[in-house]
Amino acid sequence: MRVICLLYHDVIEESDWNSSGFTGPGTAKYKLSRREFEAHVESIAKMRHEPPKLARELTTVIDDTVPFLLTFDDGGESAIRAVAGILKELGWSGHFFVTVDQIGKKGFLNPEQIRSLRREGHVIGSHSFSHPMRMSRCSEGELVNQWTSSVKILSEILNEQVDTASVPGGYYSNRVGETAARAGIRVLFNSEPTTAIHNVLGCRVLGRYNISRGMPPGVSGDLEGNGSIGTSRNLPRHSQGGLTSLLDTGCCENDEVICESRLAVLISILTGSSCRL
Ligand SMILES: [Zn+2]
Repeated sequence: MRVICLLYHDVIEESDWNSSGFTGPGTAKYKLSRREFEAHVESIAKMRHEPPKLARELTTVIDDTVPFLLTFDDGGESAIRAVAGILKELGWSGHFFVTVDQIGKKGFLNPEQIRSLRREGHVIGSHSFSHPMRMSRCSEGELVNQWTSSVKILSEILNEQVDTASVPGGYYSNRVGETAARAGIRVLFNSEPTTAIHNVLGCRVLGRYNISRGMPPGVSGDLEGNGSIGTSRNLPRHSQGGLTSLLDTGCCENDEVICESRLAVLISILTGSSCRL
């Protein structure tokens, strides 16, 4: 089985890039303006008639369609101020991954907002406790602590067991996956631009395609395809469309990270390989 997961961060009003989520150097390039995000969603909706799936629904997919999932990292307040409303208009649901030690701080979701998102049908998951700079370099004990403490606090806020998570910064390793599984996480998203799924100690590990500011809406739409990206018969045609769209935008103007993202997506689509964003 294959699945297409898109990774977004904050969605910002009026170019106030520090209004939601992390505000350190380089963080703004991962945030989209409201107008950009609406254009991305519109592009996806044109290509896909079915809504995005939730991770727990993946076992019920029985046809050839490669399902797609929407994910949002960091736990910024824009999840409720912008994203939830846009998704609601389409009747869509997504996965929101919360950095637990930021809950209630300026620009981040508070417990009531987290509960509100959950009530609207979205999945709430852990984005670790403290968003380490390089998760894969943490000691085993630190990793266990990051996963168990964040899952425990979110489960208490929601009064239900949280078993979904995403890896901060995309710094995935086997040990990151194994400690997540041992903490009770059953679905873990990383940032490998791949549609493949693998299992680690009973935890499903899913890759994601990172959507950064400045990427054209067609990137999201192209990646969604027409429901047949996962079949070898249609993959070459689809890949060519993605390639054309990406190259037409002019890669590498001033933004190295966006260039890397596009390049990673291209490499992944063309070769079926996996490389970290
Ligand atoms: Zn993050």
